Amino acid sequence: MNPSISYRPLQGKTFSLFADDQHTKKYYLTISRLADQYIALHGLDPLLEVIGKRSVSKRRLRYDLDSKRPGDFQKILQHLHQELSVYTRNAPDHLKRLPRFQQWNRRLGTSVQQYLLFMMEIELTNRKYKTQFLETGHRIALLPYCLRDHEADCMAENNAIGEVCRHCSKKCFIQHASIIFRKYNINAYVRMRSDLKKSLRSIRIEGKTLGVFGIGCIPELVRGMRTCRKMPVPVMGMPLNANRCHSWMGKMHETSIDLENLEELLSADHRL
Ligand code: SF4
Repeated sequence: MNPSISYRPLQGKTFSLFADDQHTKKYYLTISRLADQYIALHGLDPLLEVIGKRSVSKRRLRYDLDSKRPGDFQKILQHLHQELSVYTRNAPDHLKRLPRFQQWNRRLGTSVQQYLLFMMEIELTNRKYKTQFLETGHRIALLPYCLRDHEADCMAENNAIGEVCRHCSKKCFIQHASIIFRKYNINAYVRMRSDLKKSLRSIRIEGKTLGVFGIGCIPELVRGMRTCRKMPVPVMGMPLNANRCHSWMGKMHETSIDLENLEELLSADHRL
Protein backbone atom coordinates (compact mmCIF):
# COMPACT_ATOMS: atom_id res chain seq x y z
CA MET A 1 0.00 0.00 0.00
CA ASN A 2 1.19 3.50 -0.83
CA PRO A 3 2.84 4.89 2.33
CA SER A 4 1.77 8.48 1.62
CA ILE A 5 -1.89 7.83 2.36
CA SER A 6 -3.56 6.97 5.61
CA TYR A 7 -5.43 3.73 5.22
CA ARG A 8 -6.96 3.48 8.64
CA PRO A 9 -10.17 1.55 9.40
CA LEU A 10 -13.26 3.75 9.13
CA GLN A 11 -16.84 3.26 10.26
CA GLY A 12 -19.61 4.59 8.02
CA LYS A 13 -23.11 5.68 8.90
CA THR A 14 -24.54 2.38 7.65
CA PHE A 15 -21.69 0.29 6.23
CA SER A 16 -17.96 -0.24 6.59
CA LEU A 17 -15.99 -2.68 4.45
CA PHE A 18 -13.46 -2.90 7.29
CA ALA A 19 -15.90 -4.35 9.82
CA ASP A 20 -13.45 -5.26 12.65
CA ASP A 21 -10.34 -5.57 10.46
CA GLN A 22 -7.48 -3.23 9.69
CA HIS A 23 -8.09 -3.54 5.94
CA THR A 24 -10.84 -4.45 3.47
CA LYS A 25 -9.20 -7.49 1.88
CA LYS A 26 -11.47 -9.89 3.78
CA TYR A 27 -14.59 -8.20 2.41
CA TYR A 28 -13.38 -8.56 -1.18
CA LEU A 29 -12.33 -12.19 -0.66
CA THR A 30 -15.72 -12.99 0.88
CA ILE A 31 -17.82 -11.34 -1.82
CA SER A 32 -15.74 -13.04 -4.51
CA ARG A 33 -16.12 -16.47 -2.87
CA LEU A 34 -19.88 -16.03 -2.50
CA ALA A 35 -20.26 -14.90 -6.12
CA ASP A 36 -18.33 -18.00 -7.29
CA GLN A 37 -20.68 -20.23 -5.30
CA TYR A 38 -23.91 -18.59 -6.45
CA ILE A 39 -22.87 -18.32 -10.10
CA ALA A 40 -21.98 -22.03 -10.14
CA LEU A 41 -25.46 -22.85 -8.83
CA HIS A 42 -27.64 -20.32 -10.64
CA GLY A 43 -25.66 -18.62 -13.46
CA LEU A 44 -24.57 -14.99 -13.55
CA ASP A 45 -27.31 -13.42 -15.68
CA PRO A 46 -30.31 -15.04 -13.93
CA LEU A 47 -28.80 -14.09 -10.58
CA LEU A 48 -28.23 -10.48 -11.58
CA GLU A 49 -31.77 -10.25 -12.89
CA VAL A 50 -33.38 -11.74 -9.79
CA ILE A 51 -31.34 -9.54 -7.43
CA GLY A 52 -32.28 -6.44 -9.45
CA LYS A 53 -35.97 -7.30 -9.24
CA ARG A 54 -36.20 -8.60 -5.70
CA SER A 55 -34.11 -5.87 -4.07
CA VAL A 56 -36.83 -3.30 -4.78
CA SER A 57 -39.31 -4.25 -2.04
CA LYS A 58 -37.90 -3.74 1.47
CA ARG A 59 -40.99 -5.20 3.12
CA ARG A 60 -40.86 -8.40 1.09
CA LEU A 61 -37.14 -8.79 1.75
CA ARG A 62 -37.74 -8.76 5.51
CA TYR A 63 -40.19 -11.57 4.99
CA ASP A 64 -37.73 -13.43 2.75
CA LEU A 65 -35.00 -13.18 5.37
CA ASP A 66 -37.20 -14.81 8.02
CA SER A 67 -38.68 -17.44 5.72
CA LYS A 68 -38.94 -20.86 7.40
CA ARG A 69 -39.27 -22.66 4.07
CA PRO A 70 -36.76 -20.79 1.93
CA GLY A 71 -36.62 -21.12 -1.85
CA ASP A 72 -33.44 -20.42 -3.84
CA PHE A 73 -33.66 -16.65 -3.48
CA GLN A 74 -34.43 -16.72 0.24
CA LYS A 75 -31.54 -19.14 0.81
CA ILE A 76 -29.16 -16.71 -0.93
CA LEU A 77 -30.46 -13.79 1.12
CA GLN A 78 -30.15 -15.71 4.39
CA HIS A 79 -26.64 -16.84 3.45
CA LEU A 80 -25.64 -13.26 2.51
CA HIS A 81 -26.94 -12.15 5.88
CA GLN A 82 -24.75 -14.68 7.71
CA GLU A 83 -21.67 -13.76 5.73
CA LEU A 84 -21.96 -10.02 5.10
CA SER A 85 -24.16 -8.40 7.75
CA VAL A 86 -20.98 -7.68 9.75
CA TYR A 87 -20.28 -4.96 7.16
CA THR A 88 -23.67 -3.27 7.70
CA ARG A 89 -23.69 -3.30 11.50
CA ASN A 90 -24.50 0.40 11.82
CA ALA A 91 -27.47 0.29 9.44
CA PRO A 92 -30.18 -0.91 11.89
CA ASP A 93 -29.46 1.93 14.32
CA HIS A 94 -29.42 4.50 11.50
CA LEU A 95 -32.75 3.18 10.18
CA LYS A 96 -34.29 3.26 13.66
CA ARG A 97 -33.37 6.93 14.07
CA LEU A 98 -34.27 7.98 10.53
CA PRO A 99 -37.24 10.39 10.51
CA ARG A 100 -40.43 8.84 9.17
CA PHE A 101 -40.47 11.01 6.04
CA GLN A 102 -37.01 9.71 5.08
CA GLN A 103 -37.75 6.01 5.65
CA TRP A 104 -38.63 5.55 1.97
CA ASN A 105 -35.77 7.66 0.67
CA ARG A 106 -34.02 5.33 -1.81
CA ARG A 107 -30.56 6.12 -0.45
CA LEU A 108 -30.96 6.99 3.23
CA GLY A 109 -33.65 4.37 3.80
CA THR A 110 -31.73 1.44 2.25
CA SER A 111 -32.44 -1.63 4.39
CA VAL A 112 -29.85 -4.15 5.58
CA GLN A 113 -31.21 -6.77 3.18
CA GLN A 114 -30.91 -4.32 0.29
CA TYR A 115 -27.28 -3.56 1.21
CA LEU A 116 -26.46 -7.27 1.14
CA LEU A 117 -28.03 -7.73 -2.29
CA PHE A 118 -26.44 -4.52 -3.60
CA MET A 119 -22.98 -5.74 -2.54
CA MET A 120 -23.53 -8.90 -4.56
CA GLU A 121 -25.02 -6.93 -7.48
CA ILE A 122 -21.86 -4.78 -7.71
CA GLU A 123 -19.66 -7.91 -7.78
CA LEU A 124 -21.83 -9.63 -10.41
CA THR A 125 -21.97 -6.51 -12.59
CA ASN A 126 -18.18 -6.25 -12.52
CA ARG A 127 -17.87 -9.85 -13.61
CA LYS A 128 -20.41 -9.44 -16.39
CA TYR A 129 -18.90 -6.29 -17.90
CA LYS A 130 -15.17 -6.39 -17.17
CA THR A 131 -14.07 -7.63 -20.60
CA GLN A 132 -16.46 -5.30 -22.46
CA PHE A 133 -15.48 -2.35 -20.31
CA LEU A 134 -11.76 -2.87 -20.93
CA GLU A 135 -12.41 -3.04 -24.68
CA THR A 136 -14.37 0.22 -24.92
CA GLY A 137 -12.79 3.07 -26.89
CA HIS A 138 -13.66 5.84 -24.46
CA ARG A 139 -13.43 5.00 -20.77
CA ILE A 140 -14.26 7.33 -17.93
CA ALA A 141 -14.32 7.02 -14.15
CA LEU A 142 -16.72 9.01 -12.01
CA LEU A 143 -15.50 9.64 -8.46
CA PRO A 144 -17.38 11.21 -5.56
CA TYR A 145 -16.16 14.52 -4.09
CA CYS A 146 -16.15 13.00 -0.55
CA LEU A 147 -13.01 10.99 -1.49
CA ARG A 148 -10.81 14.06 -1.76
CA ASP A 149 -8.36 15.26 0.90
CA HIS A 150 -10.50 17.62 2.96
CA GLU A 151 -7.47 19.35 4.44
CA ALA A 152 -6.10 20.38 1.04
CA ASP A 153 -7.10 23.44 -0.88
CA CYS A 154 -8.37 21.37 -3.79
CA MET A 155 -6.98 22.57 -7.13
CA ALA A 156 -9.20 20.34 -9.31
CA GLU A 157 -10.28 22.00 -12.54
CA ASN A 158 -13.76 21.96 -13.93
CA ASN A 159 -14.54 20.63 -17.35
CA ALA A 160 -17.77 19.57 -19.08
CA ILE A 161 -17.90 16.13 -17.39
CA GLY A 162 -16.69 16.95 -13.88
CA GLU A 163 -13.60 18.13 -12.05
CA VAL A 164 -10.17 16.88 -13.06
CA CYS A 165 -7.63 16.31 -10.29
CA ARG A 166 -4.51 18.53 -10.38
CA HIS A 167 -2.59 16.29 -7.94
CA CYS A 168 -2.09 18.86 -5.22
CA SER A 169 -2.11 16.40 -2.29
CA LYS A 170 -0.24 13.14 -1.80
CA LYS A 171 -2.73 12.16 0.91
CA CYS A 172 -5.70 12.39 -1.45
CA PHE A 173 -7.44 9.18 -2.54
CA ILE A 174 -8.71 10.89 -5.69
CA GLN A 175 -5.18 11.68 -6.79
CA HIS A 176 -4.06 8.06 -6.21
CA ALA A 177 -7.14 6.65 -7.94
CA SER A 178 -6.67 9.07 -10.88
CA ILE A 179 -3.09 7.82 -11.36
CA ILE A 180 -4.31 4.20 -11.41
CA PHE A 181 -7.10 5.06 -13.85
CA ARG A 182 -4.67 6.89 -16.15
CA LYS A 183 -2.51 3.74 -16.30
CA TYR A 184 -5.53 1.95 -17.81
CA ASN A 185 -6.43 4.80 -20.22
CA ILE A 186 -9.38 5.88 -18.16
CA ASN A 187 -10.11 9.58 -17.64
CA ALA A 188 -11.17 10.23 -14.06
CA TYR A 189 -13.59 12.99 -13.05
CA VAL A 190 -14.86 14.11 -9.68
CA ARG A 191 -18.55 14.41 -10.10
CA MET A 192 -21.04 16.49 -8.21
CA ARG A 193 -24.56 15.11 -8.28
CA SER A 194 -26.29 15.55 -11.64
CA ASP A 195 -28.42 13.52 -14.01
CA LEU A 196 -26.14 10.60 -14.92
CA LYS A 197 -28.13 9.54 -17.97
CA LYS A 198 -28.03 13.03 -19.47
CA SER A 199 -24.31 13.39 -18.73
CA LEU A 200 -23.48 10.05 -20.35
CA ARG A 201 -25.53 10.87 -23.46
CA SER A 202 -23.70 14.16 -23.83
CA ILE A 203 -20.21 12.66 -23.56
CA ARG A 204 -20.59 9.80 -26.01
CA ILE A 205 -17.97 10.21 -28.72
CA GLU A 206 -19.05 9.25 -32.21
CA GLY A 207 -17.48 6.00 -33.39
CA LYS A 208 -16.25 5.10 -29.90
CA THR A 209 -18.00 2.94 -27.34
CA LEU A 210 -18.27 4.44 -23.89
CA GLY A 211 -17.39 2.56 -20.69
CA VAL A 212 -17.96 3.86 -17.17
CA PHE A 213 -16.27 2.99 -13.88
CA GLY A 214 -18.16 4.31 -10.85
CA ILE A 215 -17.11 4.82 -7.25
CA GLY A 216 -19.66 5.73 -4.61
CA CYS A 217 -21.51 4.68 -1.49
CA ILE A 218 -23.29 1.37 -2.03
CA PRO A 219 -26.85 2.59 -2.79
CA GLU A 220 -25.64 5.39 -5.11
CA LEU A 221 -23.24 3.11 -6.92
CA VAL A 222 -25.87 0.46 -7.57
CA ARG A 223 -28.25 3.10 -8.91
CA GLY A 224 -25.60 4.43 -11.28
CA MET A 225 -24.63 0.93 -12.43
CA ARG A 226 -28.25 0.12 -13.18
CA THR A 227 -28.62 3.31 -15.22
CA CYS A 228 -25.56 2.35 -17.26
CA ARG A 229 -26.78 -1.23 -17.78
CA LYS A 230 -30.09 0.02 -19.08
CA MET A 231 -28.53 2.49 -21.56
CA PRO A 232 -26.61 0.11 -22.31
CA VAL A 233 -23.09 1.19 -21.31
CA PRO A 234 -20.51 -1.35 -20.05
CA VAL A 235 -20.01 -0.50 -16.40
CA MET A 236 -17.82 -1.48 -13.49
CA GLY A 237 -17.68 -0.08 -10.00
CA MET A 238 -16.27 -0.17 -6.52
CA PRO A 239 -17.87 0.97 -3.27
CA LEU A 240 -16.36 3.48 -0.89
CA ASN A 241 -14.97 1.78 2.20
CA ALA A 242 -17.53 3.58 4.36
CA ASN A 243 -20.32 6.15 3.85
CA ARG A 244 -19.27 9.29 5.71
CA CYS A 245 -20.28 12.33 3.64
CA HIS A 246 -22.49 15.12 5.01
CA SER A 247 -25.70 13.64 3.63
CA TRP A 248 -25.13 10.61 5.88
CA MET A 249 -23.24 12.10 8.82
CA GLY A 250 -24.49 15.70 8.88
CA LYS A 251 -20.96 16.88 8.08
CA MET A 252 -18.16 15.73 5.84
CA HIS A 253 -15.74 13.10 7.18
CA GLU A 254 -12.84 11.51 5.36
CA THR A 255 -13.41 8.23 3.59
CA SER A 256 -11.29 5.87 1.49
CA ILE A 257 -11.27 3.18 -1.16
CA ASP A 258 -9.22 0.01 -1.49
CA LEU A 259 -6.61 1.07 -4.07
CA GLU A 260 -5.15 -2.44 -4.35
CA ASN A 261 -8.56 -3.81 -5.20
CA LEU A 262 -9.03 -1.04 -7.77
CA GLU A 263 -5.84 -2.15 -9.53
CA GLU A 264 -7.00 -5.77 -9.48
CA LEU A 265 -10.41 -4.87 -10.89
CA LEU A 266 -8.85 -3.03 -13.81
CA SER A 267 -6.05 -5.46 -14.54
CA ALA A 268 -6.84 -7.62 -17.58
CA ASP A 269 -4.78 -10.44 -16.02
CA HIS A 270 -6.90 -10.58 -12.89
CA ARG A 271 -9.87 -12.93 -13.18
CA LEU A 272 -13.00 -11.81 -11.35
S1 SF4 B 1 -5.18 15.83 -5.12
FE1 SF4 B 1 -6.72 16.36 -6.71
S2 SF4 B 1 -8.78 15.91 -5.91
FE2 SF4 B 1 -7.27 15.82 -4.21
S3 SF4 B 1 -7.43 17.82 -3.28
FE3 SF4 B 1 -5.76 17.98 -4.82
S4 SF4 B 1 -6.68 18.55 -6.81
FE4 SF4 B 1 -8.35 18.02 -5.34
